[in-house]
Amino acid sequence: MNIGDRLNKELRTIADFPKPGIMFKDITPVLENPALCRDLVEALCDSASKLNIDAVVGIESRGFLFGLPLAMALNVPFITLRKKGKLPYKTVSYSYDLEYGSATIEMHQNTIQNNWNVLIHDDLLATGGTAKAAAELVKMEGGNIAGFSFLIGLDFLGGKEALRAYSTNIISIKEY
Ligand code: AMP
Repeated sequence: MNIGDRLNKELRTIADFPKPGIMFKDITPVLENPALCRDLVEALCDSASKLNIDAVVGIESRGFLFGLPLAMALNVPFITLRKKGKLPYKTVSYSYDLEYGSATIEMHQNTIQNNWNVLIHDDLLATGGTAKAAAELVKMEGGNIAGFSFLIGLDFLGGKEALRAYSTNIISIKEY
């Protein structure tokens, strides 16, 4: 079975969580399968290794789970991108609109060096709003967007189109 099918088999889909109409892709069963986790990191690493990555930026919180092992496999720094108020040192922030209200994400200052090729990683791509905000913050800090990587892409929600302006390198292990 290929890696996408193995991931699909372990994912649990929960209807109407956290609100009606959302088909939530629960990756916690995947985390209980160490051989699959190792192979997922290897597959992400294989796809990203052509991109000349200088750092991986992981999006809170599920983007940390595979983001750090991916950065370790690529032998580059891992940078955490968090919700407002979570990071203890000096931060840079970016605010963006949600369906209702807005959200702010933060990163520690001076973690990205000028012209670094940055890979943005999260567990899942839906509309692309979160990854797009991450890309804006990375650009504000002087980084280039080398690509995006996800375990899962919900392609019918149009996330790829939203991200294409930043980079056409959009990796997902399993697309729906
Ligand atoms: P978006 O900004 O619309 O691309 O949403 C992506 C973010 O929301 C990621 O951090 C995902 O973890 C989370 N997310 C959105 N939709 C789902 C879903 N159907 N299942 C699991 N996580 C989701």
